[in-house]
Amino acid sequence: ATQQHQRRIQVLPPRLANQIAAGEVVERPASVLKELVENAIDAGATRIDIEIEAGGAKLLRVRDNGCGIGPEDLPLALSRHATSKIESLDDLEGVASLGFRGEALAAISSVSRLELFSNTHTDTSQAWRVVAEGREMTSSVTPAPHPRGSSITVRDLFFNTPARRKFLRTEKTEFNHIEEVFRRLTLSRFDIGWTLSHNQKPVHQLPACDSDLAGEQRIGKLLGREFLKNALSVDIEATGLRLRGWVGLPTHTRAQADQQYFFVNGRIVRDKLVAHAVRQAYRDVLFHGRHPVFVLYLELDPAVVDVNVHPTKHEVRFRDGRLVHDFLFSSLHRSLAEVRPNQSPDTLA
Ligand code: ADP
Ligand code: MG
Repeated sequence: ATQQHQRRIQVLPPRLANQIAAGEVVERPASVLKELVENAIDAGATRIDIEIEAGGAKLLRVRDNGCGIGPEDLPLALSRHATSKIESLDDLEGVASLGFRGEALAAISSVSRLELFSNTHTDTSQAWRVVAEGREMTSSVTPAPHPRGSSITVRDLFFNTPARRKFLRTEKTEFNHIEEVFRRLTLSRFDIGWTLSHNQKPVHQLPACDSDLAGEQRIGKLLGREFLKNALSVDIEATGLRLRGWVGLPTHTRAQADQQYFFVNGRIVRDKLVAHAVRQAYRDVLFHGRHPVFVLYLELDPAVVDVNVHPTKHEVRFRDGRLVHDFLFSSLHRSLAEVRPNQSPDTLA
């Protein structure tokens, strides 16, 4: 310990700094998938295809038809604190993209073998490739054919950080986490067409939805037909806030709170204030210990919600929490009142 005290202060080498940051962003294959897909969404993709092998520990590949990355930007895409999404603190205030920290690809490439193909043109022959192995990047960006958009392959996650690799669970468990991330992402964007395969076998095929009916079909595929039959659809707007989605009837509940999806401006969040408002609205219609099922979308001015609270961006901070809470509570309470026994909606007004 005394030795420790005598050491001089040193700036961490970039690779080590990235590996430390990876500890925050990259917990397991599912977190890699989340970051890669969020990038594809930010790139404006309308189609996203995902291939997984061995629960993602061996291979994760995300292919999109988004805007692509030009050859001059390819090395930068893998550098820390390099982003195309914000330029100033002002941009951060009203940030609409899912990413903005410029950390994910640097972190992921520091703990895996990463290969990236990208093309900003429709001409397939104008594409480029770059690889990085545990952050040791090949200096060259080489031409390689690829249609407009990007494909990112992440192999051998944590190959150079054995302590992290040991924390990976069975293939099945890791794939369950991947499917949960997939469910959240596909519920967040009905206008995107998706596929997911595991060990070369197709698991999900979700076409882009061009109608409400198509949207309901997706909900049915992801959460089950029973939920759809036992849910109310909600669409309420007031004071600059809009709440849409599906809430399960008090008769369709679960022993665990494992089918509750709440999106704020398209971003899935886990928020105490939101959870409290929902719980209150269901309070007198649920049996003790049962949990409702819901998929809800809150839309509001991005300037009144702070998303830069946590590296994984699962938490948000509302400028006027009270307003949001009361809006959620009253919207859900009113919707559920329609099915509440012994009380007509008018008596609750
Ligand atoms: P962030 O998303 O926070 O900007 P990332 O490390 O995830 O940081 O990505 C770095 C940059 O690489 C992004 O800002 C974007 O310009 C580019 N990029 C990453 N993935 C894609 C993609 N699939 N399509 C287009 N550009 C991408
Ligand atoms: Mg990103």
